[in-house]
Amino acid sequence: MKESKKSDSDDDWVLPGDKIAVIEEFLPDETCYEQDGGIYSKIFGRVVTDTKRHKITVIPKNPHRSIKNGDLGIGRVEFMKKQIASINIYYLNQENLMIPISAILHVSEASRRFVKNMYEVARPGDWIRFRIIRAAKPVYVSLIGDGLGVVISYCIQCGHELKFKRRNTLECPNCDTIQPRITSKYFGKPLIRNLRPSRNETR
Ligand SMILES: [Zn+2]
Repeated sequence: MKESKKSDSDDDWVLPGDKIAVIEEFLPDETCYEQDGGIYSKIFGRVVTDTKRHKITVIPKNPHRSIKNGDLGIGRVEFMKKQIASINIYYLNQENLMIPISAILHVSEASRRFVKNMYEVARPGDWIRFRIIRAAKPVYVSLIGDGLGVVISYCIQCGHELKFKRRNTLECPNCDTIQPRITSKYFGKPLIRNLRPSRNETR
């Protein structure tokens, strides 16, 4: 097992899912998990151990960088209620965050026009482009502004990726349903599609 040190050798870097220790040696903290007697990293970062206290942790490559009001980000809708949606921010100012930051979107920040409820805005699993309007926790985002809104979306009936039909209206090429979303002008654009983290490919 590596001792804690501040070298830049590649050995120190681990990816999510990498085995970093065995359970007899260390107690995992919130950056790692135990499985079948092994300790595995949850994040991309550097392993640091404290052998005296039997502690092990992974320091993220990008620790929570500072968020500022007005920053632009891309994230995924995790769950929603009528008035609010919970978002995981994966990109901030085009930088890939190793640990997503959770944020809230309120229906009043979905569009300049009146939107009755969140189900007209986005659905869980959709990717949205937004602006940070409250950088302190809890972080709040807004879809009001140029180029903001849903950029990747999935059918609520069959899960197929939706195609753009017209502004704020998407169509499922698989089951032909028409579904409302607040769409960004970047909806389905290659630039946005390439930003999608690989964990989403299994959807
Ligand atoms: Zn469908």
